[in-house]
Amino acid sequence: MNRRDVLKLAGGAVLAAGTASLVAPSAFAAASAQSARTVALLNTHTGDRFSAAYWEQGNYVPDAMAAIRHVMRDYRNNEVHDIDPRLLDQLSGLNGLVGAAAPYQIISGYRSPATNAMLHANSDGVASHSLHMEGKAIDIRMAGVDLPRLHDAALSMQSGGVGFYPASDFIHVDTGRVRRW
Ligand SMILES: [Zn+2]
Repeated sequence: MNRRDVLKLAGGAVLAAGTASLVAPSAFAAASAQSARTVALLNTHTGDRFSAAYWEQGNYVPDAMAAIRHVMRDYRNNEVHDIDPRLLDQLSGLNGLVGAAAPYQIISGYRSPATNAMLHANSDGVASHSLHMEGKAIDIRMAGVDLPRLHDAALSMQSGGVGFYPASDFIHVDTGRVRRW
């Protein structure tokens, strides 16, 4: 099955096509039954926003994916990268769990190789090859939702990686294998 076919499949089938999410949590199941999936994003560095459907009637929406790519760009040098659609499904499912209306505040989305290398050199917590460099990870917080609650909800999805950074007031979510730190 190629990537194009995966993207064309509806709802839970997209998740089942991955290896990490064979059991769809209820939030995903609920999202799958809908005809559209939305996500609201606010880049804390640029003020750029996205709030709309990124998936409609079985397809990821190209214009929406392009807009999200822009909002999640590396703000240090404006480099952009494709964003893994499964990451958006995770965010949509997570939003369903916490029931919030506020956008996700993006602390870090895509990181270019240059930015990641700089952060890696200056921080113990940044991997030399982070999933941020593949458009498969995001660091977020959400106004009105306590960070531990957002963290617990992310863990409950059993989908991808989840990191907890209370000192910096964000959680990390990625589409890699299920793990936590
Ligand atoms: Zn991260």
